[in-house]
Amino acid sequence: MIARIAIDGAASGRLFDYAVPPELAETCVVGARVRVHFGHRAVLGYVVELVAESEFLAAAKADHTPVQAPADLLLDVAPEPQKPSLKPVEAVEGDASVVLPVLMRLARWMAQYYLAPIERCIQTLLPAPVRSGRSREKIRLYVEAAPVPGGPGIVRADTDARPEGGRDEARPSQSPISGGPGIVRAAPTAPKLTKRQEQLVADIRRVGGGWLQQVIAEFKCTAETVRRLENLGAVTIVERQMRRDPFANRRVVPSKPLPLNEDQSRALRLVLNGVSQAEDTSSPPPKPILLFGVTGSGKTEVYLQAIAAVLEKGRGAIVLVPEIALTPQTVQRFAARFGENIAVLHSALSDGERYDEWQRIRAGKARVVVGPRSAVFAPVERLGLIVVDEEHEPSYKQDESPRYNARDVAVMRANLEHCPIVLGSATPALESWKNVKTGKYDVARLSRRAAEDAVMPLVHIVDMRREISEAGQPRLFSQALLDAIKQRLDKGEQTLLFLNRRGYSTSLVCPSCGYVATCEACDIAYTYHRHDDCLRCHICGGWKRVADKCPNCGDPKYKCLGTGTQRIEQIVSACFPHARIARMDADSTSRKFSHDDILGAFKSGKTDILIGTQMIAKGLHFPNVTLVGIVMADSSLHIPDFRAGERTFQLLAQVSGRTGRGAIAGEVYVQTYTPDHPAVQMARTENFEGFADGELEIRRDLNYPPYCHLTCLTLSGPEESAVAALLERIAESVRDKADKSVIISEVVPASLPKANNQFRYQLLLRAPTTSRILPPLSAALAANRVPEAMRLSVDVDALSLF
Ligand code: ADP
Ligand code: ZN
Repeated sequence: MIARIAIDGAASGRLFDYAVPPELAETCVVGARVRVHFGHRAVLGYVVELVAESEFLAAAKADHTPVQAPADLLLDVAPEPQKPSLKPVEAVEGDASVVLPVLMRLARWMAQYYLAPIERCIQTLLPAPVRSGRSREKIRLYVEAAPVPGGPGIVRADTDARPEGGRDEARPSQSPISGGPGIVRAAPTAPKLTKRQEQLVADIRRVGGGWLQQVIAEFKCTAETVRRLENLGAVTIVERQMRRDPFANRRVVPSKPLPLNEDQSRALRLVLNGVSQAEDTSSPPPKPILLFGVTGSGKTEVYLQAIAAVLEKGRGAIVLVPEIALTPQTVQRFAARFGENIAVLHSALSDGERYDEWQRIRAGKARVVVGPRSAVFAPVERLGLIVVDEEHEPSYKQDESPRYNARDVAVMRANLEHCPIVLGSATPALESWKNVKTGKYDVARLSRRAAEDAVMPLVHIVDMRREISEAGQPRLFSQALLDAIKQRLDKGEQTLLFLNRRGYSTSLVCPSCGYVATCEACDIAYTYHRHDDCLRCHICGGWKRVADKCPNCGDPKYKCLGTGTQRIEQIVSACFPHARIARMDADSTSRKFSHDDILGAFKSGKTDILIGTQMIAKGLHFPNVTLVGIVMADSSLHIPDFRAGERTFQLLAQVSGRTGRGAIAGEVYVQTYTPDHPAVQMARTENFEGFADGELEIRRDLNYPPYCHLTCLTLSGPEESAVAALLERIAESVRDKADKSVIISEVVPASLPKANNQFRYQLLLRAPTTSRILPPLSAALAANRVPEAMRLSVDVDALSLF
């Protein structure tokens, strides 16, 4: 047997063949971590595939000509000729395959689809603390009282009575102190104890045992005392794994399934059909289901009940949520239904917590995993369902190699696992919507808010072109919004003020009239290149100089830049000196729990006005928020990206969804310079379908995704001319090898043209299918080696053009 191995830590994109010695035949399975000799070093690697014959070996023996690596793994190709003999696998590390076979298949698919080295893809499957091998289980000593002689047999711990602290998981082990077996045996006769000792044993028995440290602290004794009791046979001390539980100190109130409304029942039935269909492995895998439900329509309740059904069948589930929506509120809702069966993977966890959570999943102790994009790789066996909440979220895209989109990887994993997948959103990605229209996905609609008293908010669109101060200056706040805030303050209700900060750094918007310079051929905003004061189109490469004053209204302050949340905070404080105001953005939430603190204060009514960026737009429930102000709705409309309209629609709909969740109807003020833009108009009534239909037409006419696959290459290096020239050559090679359906843009400086003394250039490729672009692109990359000094990033299905 031959093992094809990816070397850990490398990035060559190649597999190497090793012979599996007979004594390792059982353990050297796909996904196993193995030790091999590579050159003169001993290294770790992963078994990607087992084959009967080595192609390398066969070819080398036959005629000494090198063979191509299989196309799906090839990135930088041209394997060196190998000597006609294979080294053996030296050893297998650990006792089970670290990577589940299905995840190994997923990694291979990613390597091929995202043009990333297979080693990187395997690394991506495993959290750092698991991969490094440095993290370990946390083992502590646990004390239990011996059974009462003649009593009712073994006294089992009453778990609820145990002192507070980490939960435990028994681990068969020997007590290092007594050297005796760490199991509870009935003492033959009652040992003779002093009064104080007797009291201590009784105390330990009463609480059902506890960690040695806790027993010492709680009952004011010493380790010596406890050990003496152990020698007397009155207590046992065993090693146990102490789980580092990220949510140990949170109280979870269990929740019961809600009776579903008609829409929800229909959606659940559709998912459960998929679950049944998946049972029959001879049938095709169930179609992905888009759960298209307005904000507050009760999508989460549908997920919860679908997961419950899957658990009933002895299967597990993965729920992906965007990182910033992974708040305690979200986790709580799942924990309330599934308790200990929940594992949470979160970047804010400590290494130890992450390690324990991953091990709990791997061991099948937690069957429901909730986490951000990387949770798509959770080692859940017998996977029965994947849920991707807010499936349109750009944060599902990883911004380093492999640049995968967790939603798409999830669809692929569901396909490999033959299990159903539910993509939930109030504002689906146009990619998903198109899949519904073409019948690739099923759809279930939830068209009303679920809670009985909740209604859709009243949305006002405020035309900011009319809001000029007496001095003739443009203003940030309209009178209507200021009046509305005042009303809420008077009534003791809460306000959310939302600013989308993205955009102003990359495009140029006139602060007086909202004018934006746009490339007419491509219908996207020009990118403003500050260093040479130039406007460039990133699609066609066209450019022009920036006028000194606004071409539309003549304002000379045309080039002045946008507004941040801090500025908004100052203005609001000046207008409402007595209001309690908080700000939540990337700057104010860099501390680990500041996020929770700010939201907690707002939720409990300690804050009147919360000002924030995207962060406050996601999945939060605030019953007392009756006003949402969107300070500059246009800012996301002018990002130089054909998705600007889609992003704006999503943001407006999400933000509006934050209000009117309680008994009081909500109001939304949208301040905009472009009140007639479809993204603004359709968001007013959360009319996604109306928006999507119009937008899809534009995308089709201009040949943008979802009507093509867009790949963005960014090359950076210290010498500008060399960078531009190499990217030109790559473009040229692609042009040679690809057919006419592939659209190759001009090579242009990236919107961030220089960073850390590295010049950056960009190339956009559009193709109707990935099969038209991936082979010519990988061939072009193989033919044009990127020198050490430069870096090339390949972003397949790019979501952002920055
Ligand atoms: P979404 O995920 O679609 O934004 P949620 O699941 O957060 O919506 O639900 C919004 C609110 O409606 C929640 O407070 C939830 O408890 C409530 N809710 C959901 N389903 C029902 C139902 N069937 N009956 C009553 N209330 C419901
Ligand atoms: Zn253009």
